[in-house]
Amino acid sequence: MAYTAMDFYDADALLSEEERMVRDTVRSFVEAEIVPHAARHFREGTFPMDLVPKFGEMGLLGAPLEGYGCAGMSYTAYGVLCRELERGDSGIRSFCSVQGSLVMFPIHKYGTEEQKNRWLPELAAGRKIGCFGLTEPDFGSNPGGMITNAKRVSGGFVLNGSKYWITNGTLADVALVWAKLDGRIRGFLVEKGTKGFRAEDIPGKYSLRASATSGLVLEDCLVPESAMLPGAEGLKGPLSCLDSARYGIAWGAVGAAQGCFDEALRYSKTRIQFDRPIAGFQLVQNKFAQMLTEITAAQLIAWRLGRLRDDGKHEPAQTSLAKRHNVDMALRTARTCRDILGASGITEEYQCLRHALNLESVITYEGTHDIHALVLGERVTGIAAYKG
Ligand SMILES: Cc1cc2nc3c(=O)[nH]c(=O)nc-3n(C[C@H](O)[C@H](O)[C@H](O)COP(=O)(O)OP(=O)(O)OC[C@H]3O[C@@H](n4cnc5c(N)ncnc54)[C@H](O)[C@@H]3O)c2cc1C
Repeated sequence: MAYTAMDFYDADALLSEEERMVRDTVRSFVEAEIVPHAARHFREGTFPMDLVPKFGEMGLLGAPLEGYGCAGMSYTAYGVLCRELERGDSGIRSFCSVQGSLVMFPIHKYGTEEQKNRWLPELAAGRKIGCFGLTEPDFGSNPGGMITNAKRVSGGFVLNGSKYWITNGTLADVALVWAKLDGRIRGFLVEKGTKGFRAEDIPGKYSLRASATSGLVLEDCLVPESAMLPGAEGLKGPLSCLDSARYGIAWGAVGAAQGCFDEALRYSKTRIQFDRPIAGFQLVQNKFAQMLTEITAAQLIAWRLGRLRDDGKHEPAQTSLAKRHNVDMALRTARTCRDILGASGITEEYQCLRHALNLESVITYEGTHDIHALVLGERVTGIAAYKG
């Protein structure tokens, strides 16, 4: 039976016609090309590489960027496409978030004309893949403490250090590596095959299995002068990229929750216990009432943040609120839906547990749930609690 996205307040009526067209196109694509294969990719721990050129054809990579082969969609349309992709699998949305928001966005914002012309059309078309290396084994929530460093040498820079938990690391043709040059954080575009640079996948994940998560090693890795993004200096460079990616996550989480809700609702109407559908029991209905309320709130938060972004009026703390609230909501929704499915819910025939396991990564990456609470705490009190 066709997927029905719960939209209790008709929030999609707030979208433009073009944004609804993006929704319909991506939803059909996800239904045909992602949903039928998502469980297998999760089980086998593989990323569906065959989809990458299709993402490019559909304008899903770097969608809100202008020029250089990018689609130039509204930020709201970008959010909508993230929502639809994550309904399929968080690993797929993660691929597009990293490529668009964490690699193409900084090249577009901070790169030279030469860097933009070289990389953006290729990345937009899905002919090249990028990754974003900020986190290190010993520096996650506190990236400013990073050890990876760059030293200026004749003709370029020598990079040393390591990055960990890097999405698309082993798939990438280019890694945006953040490193300290004279104590200031700078971004360097390191091409696959550069001497002294290697990527290896992290084995044994229970979460985001349809996504490559890798470690990067840089050992006396020499890159040319032209590898550095000239416009990004200090932590605000990588943080601006994360703000864009977190925005997509806030929408994506809604899609994962809607997918689980749809599945659990259908199941509950046909599963008979004590001579009636389990949907008829008050305790089950209470779960649906709670999830319905929370999905509706999350939809409206995502939509409003999209419009603020499109009007150039948003602030990063608003993105923190949306990412924190919506991912937490989606994770709880996925777990509750899994519960409604009983034993069936632990199998790969259903999507709830796969979504719940994926969302365990989503609630940690791009700023953990608690770090975003501290961002909001600082925003309202003026006191930065995480700085010790
Ligand atoms: C699947 C996956 C993909 C990822 N992809 C990327 C990527 O592409 N690029 C990239 O650079 N990184 C990536 N990451 C890394 C991710 O951003 C980090 O895992 C995240 O920032 C948290 O860092 P950490 O895991 O080191 O946890 P830690 O920082 O060690 O945190 C552990 C716990 O301590 C808490 N904590 C930390 N500091 C404080 C504080 N001051 N006050 C209160 N509590 C605190 C945290 O909230 C958390 O609960 C990815 C991670 C995962 C799981």
